[in-house]
Amino acid sequence: MQSNTGSYKRVLMGPGPSDVDPRVLEALSRPTIGHLDPAFLGILNEIRTLLQYVFKTNNQMTLAMSGTGSAGMETCVVNLIEPGEPMLVCVNGVFGKRMSDVATRAGADVSTLEVAWGQVFDPEAIDQVLRRKPAKLVGIVHAETSTGARQPIEEVSRVVHSHGALLLVDTVTSLGGIEVNVDGWQIDACYSGTQKCLSCPPGLSPVTFSEAALQTLEKRKTKVQSWYLDLTLIRQYWGSERLYHHTAPINMNYALLEALRIVKEEGLENRWNRHWTNHCMLKKGLAAIGINYVAQAGHELPMLNAVSVPEGVDDAAVRKQLLEQFGIEIGAGLGAFKGKVWRIGLMGAASTKSNVLLFLAALENCLSDQGHKFPKGASIAAAIESK
Ligand SMILES: *Cc1c(COP(=O)(O)O)cnc(C)c1O
Repeated sequence: MQSNTGSYKRVLMGPGPSDVDPRVLEALSRPTIGHLDPAFLGILNEIRTLLQYVFKTNNQMTLAMSGTGSAGMETCVVNLIEPGEPMLVCVNGVFGKRMSDVATRAGADVSTLEVAWGQVFDPEAIDQVLRRKPAKLVGIVHAETSTGARQPIEEVSRVVHSHGALLLVDTVTSLGGIEVNVDGWQIDACYSGTQKCLSCPPGLSPVTFSEAALQTLEKRKTKVQSWYLDLTLIRQYWGSERLYHHTAPINMNYALLEALRIVKEEGLENRWNRHWTNHCMLKKGLAAIGINYVAQAGHELPMLNAVSVPEGVDDAAVRKQLLEQFGIEIGAGLGAFKGKVWRIGLMGAASTKSNVLLFLAALENCLSDQGHKFPKGASIAAAIESK
């Protein structure tokens, strides 16, 4: 669907980016000012305060790195790891795999613990691995966007700390959609992204470091491998010195501030509840037409619904029709799930009842066109019933 201004109008129900609130788009278009302008420094301070709210942390080192979620991943790894140091990465999908790749490139002595895609980690298994081989840092993904599985963090944190290691958690997809409790769960380093449940365009990566992580950074014997992501330098810009490091992406920071204000206005808990309610509605609707989730039962993410493509249905043709006829974007399966799974996002501003109903109606239309047999209208009836 192309509007007469030449811009595209879409309903973004994929694995990110998600729909952006018009208030955020308006913020993005405000006049650019200097990165050392006191007005802009005030904006950075407000972003820090609001990020502390969404991360549930008092960490002083809380900031938005310039770059997407993957830059946050790399920031955490390169600042906490020196060449040759042991790191354990838990891999149950694309993003755990990416973290192990980043750590290997950073010169870490990387071990991985793997479980099947869609499954989550038993803290006991992590304990076993750390008994055999201690690690300085343990990395895990809270919300694995490639499989739709939610990893409980608290118990993992206890195990990791009982071995004297630091805990690194990827919350790119979870932040703003389900609880992320950095202080309560004693997470040492945590990163996220702007374009998933915060509903801001992609371009910044919120990062927070605990006291223990900061001490590790201060005790380094070698320079951080990446100049651009070196927090010992960047903290002098975000801190009171306000020393130039690189030019902050000014307008992206306006956008993030506005997106965070929207989160604060709604209230974190209300936001988690909204994500949960709309997920339940979608799940009931899909179940009524025989479409099932692939993540471990009881661990399904509300913002990323990974479901099996029904037998005999052409995955790519349905996604193409959804986009071209209805303007709805959903995600394809990655890696082991390629061609077999659809990833339906209900992230941030896109998590609405109307999007659930729109999607179910459009999906039934596409499945009918494929000659797929199912009880027509049942998904919508079940979704309405679930409210
Ligand atoms: C999207 C995502 C990333 C990567 O973020 P980019 O913004 O694409 O760089 C990392 N981890 C998870 C869990 C993600 O969903």
